[in-house]
Amino acid sequence: MTDINTRHPLDLDAPRFSIRKPGVRCDKQGEMPDAERLQIAMQNFIKDFSRPVATYMESCIHCGQCAQACHFYVSSGDPKYTPIWKLEPFKQAYQREAGPFAPLFRAFNLKHEVTLAELEEWQELLYDSCTLCGRCTLICPMGIDIAALVGLARHAMFAAGLVPHELWAVAERAEREGSPLGATAKVLKERVEWLADEHAVEIVLDKPKAEIMITLSSIEIMKYPASIVALARVLNAMGADWTLRSDGYEATNFGMLSGNAQWQKDTTMKIINAAIACGAQTVILPECGHAYGALRWQGANIYGKPLPFKVLHISEFLAESVRNGELKLKRIGKSLTYHDPCQVSRCGGATQAPREVLGALGVELREMSSNGDLNWCCGGGGGVVTIHRADPLRYKTFEIKMHQVEQTGAELMATSCANCRQTFDDGQAHFNWDRTMDSLLELVAGNLAGKAAK
Ligand code: SF4
Ligand code: SF4
Repeated sequence: MTDINTRHPLDLDAPRFSIRKPGVRCDKQGEMPDAERLQIAMQNFIKDFSRPVATYMESCIHCGQCAQACHFYVSSGDPKYTPIWKLEPFKQAYQREAGPFAPLFRAFNLKHEVTLAELEEWQELLYDSCTLCGRCTLICPMGIDIAALVGLARHAMFAAGLVPHELWAVAERAEREGSPLGATAKVLKERVEWLADEHAVEIVLDKPKAEIMITLSSIEIMKYPASIVALARVLNAMGADWTLRSDGYEATNFGMLSGNAQWQKDTTMKIINAAIACGAQTVILPECGHAYGALRWQGANIYGKPLPFKVLHISEFLAESVRNGELKLKRIGKSLTYHDPCQVSRCGGATQAPREVLGALGVELREMSSNGDLNWCCGGGGGVVTIHRADPLRYKTFEIKMHQVEQTGAELMATSCANCRQTFDDGQAHFNWDRTMDSLLELVAGNLAGKAAK
């Protein structure tokens, strides 16, 4: 029998490894009767209902193209991972209760009432096997925003206490402590002092007024602190007027990923309020995919009016700085392949920015077969990387990524999302893969040219 740890990761035709299938487990939060749990889920689903959602629910022509777009379906071949199927209970509830033919559906029982058992079964489909990557949304010929619908379905699941335990726990911790991984304001201050001392770099914390406010992801603070040093080096080299604020630094938004709209709002408002307090004209979002979407594309809706500052992903900021001559870089002179974070490229629109930066770094960019807006997800987004029972499935999807990277033959690989980087690091360890994911920001900081390099 092939062992998962010795089989070559790119040998996709080798016999399937032996992993004992995890038992179907449904996590629940809170004590409540089943009928009440079901009712809460459905009420919250209806609460989010809008005309676009109703249109989506009516539009599917069952062409199946979304299946081929989803890494969970493609890597497993299991039809239950077809993207639109992940919404079946909610589609069923819509058709029975709110669609134009609802009376008919009810009278002839063409669609039965959704049961709690179904929602429990669907927990795996809505959380473990969806990274909210939006590839299905892009492919669907009817323009159905399946990823957004999964996000809405998660609202209902959260309200009913039907969230995978680990994801619920990090979201709750983020709400309670201000960070999902324990990077509290106190921890941040200690880390910043230590990093500034250790790397002889000035890291500005809590400046009362600044043109630029930077934010971080807790993964960077706790796992990749070199990226904080890198960002400080770049900004200092440019002579920027910047600060990090202990009242609004955490950019990851597990409220959004878990499905708690209030927690999502709380996290977003901390950043908005901190930026307003220091008069920032620009807020830079870190190497974190979903953090970009949370503020750049959802921030104004949460704030209730246009944001009084510009929001840039770090790759956009770097590209802009290269373009206007504020950032000069040395040429690396190696071949490199770039992994697009789904939430920055496909869902965020900042696909060219990292490529512009890589151009300034003089790398020979070797694109993967599907790249940019069509990239394959690393498999760890949307909170999936936190869910332990999803690991075997996540590793299967990661094989797509490893295969793509190897096909390029590039010497280096880089990304601009700490969550993707963590997923790659985890995949590397799992498969004994001899590749290491670099951070775009750290590559830039390590190759500052001229006056900036001093
Ligand atoms: S958003 Fe991505 S992971 Fe989720 S169903 Fe669509 S393709 Fe699959
Ligand atoms: S691609 Fe769109 S229309 Fe086709 S099955 Fe999927 S959701 Fe339905």
